[in-house]
Amino acid sequence: MRFHRAESAFFIFIIVVLAAGLVTARAYAFLHALAPSFTRPSRIADIVYLNELLFVVGVLLATALFFGVFFIYPLIRKQVREEGKLRAMTLSLSERSETLEQAALTDALTGMQNRRYFDDALKEYIAEFRRIGRPVGLMILDLDHFKQVNDTYGHDVGDEVLRVVANCLKNMTRYHDVAARLGGEEFAVVTPNMESPVLERFAERIRKAIEATPVLAGSTRLRVTTSVGLAVWDGKEAAEEFFRRADKQLYKAKRQGRNRVCA
Ligand code: GH3
Ligand code: MG
Ligand code: MG
Repeated sequence: MRFHRAESAFFIFIIVVLAAGLVTARAYAFLHALAPSFTRPSRIADIVYLNELLFVVGVLLATALFFGVFFIYPLIRKQVREEGKLRAMTLSLSERSETLEQAALTDALTGMQNRRYFDDALKEYIAEFRRIGRPVGLMILDLDHFKQVNDTYGHDVGDEVLRVVANCLKNMTRYHDVAARLGGEEFAVVTPNMESPVLERFAERIRKAIEATPVLAGSTRLRVTTSVGLAVWDGKEAAEEFFRRADKQLYKAKRQGRNRVCA
């Protein structure tokens, strides 16, 4: 059992009072033992007076003990309990707000970052990389004919496909890349420090990996493909313009027949 500082201080106080009580009792007994050896009336009167004083000290100490144990200690206990409750409440509140904050930036289905996180991250990366003059790549991915997957195999299988694709992206991206689910069957990856040729190869690897990863739908092994649009930040444009450029490439990939990367 752990005691609060106020409780520990109180226990020390009680021990001091008890010790003072013992010393007083000892002095009282000592005086009693000594009393018969005094014969002069004035001395006897002194002893009696001293005895009375020690008795009063004893009573005062006993009163202090009584008040301490029955009034002060319960107050301390109550305060310690309330403080503990308050601390637990503050802790759970701050944990809760952290979880809420986390939830607000996470996609519930895939556990990836969500659109809101992505938008902020893209803006932040652009601001930072403008300062250091390094490239930022962006890839937008949209699963091909995903509606058909839902229609043929059901919404749950569709969800599983989204989770599998999300895992694929999480496994293939680097620590400082931002991989997010923008909504529906659309994903995006921000790739800092990546020039166009490297970005194209990277996107191609991801496209192939998604194509090669089967998803189980009952006894069938289902495969999905994805179209990818790429852009490398031109060093000036705003995040929205940058995003629009990559998105245009995605639609070009769709128009050209899907399951391909366009830059
Ligand atoms: P395209 O190749 O042109 O991209 O065709 P598509 O069918 O993939 O695109 P479309 O926009 O026509 O359909 C997207 C579908 O994605 C429709 C919607 O039901 C489905 N969808 C969106 N969000 C979810 C989700 O969270 N879970 C599942 N299972 N399906 C979703
Ligand atoms: Mg689609
Ligand atoms: Mg779409």
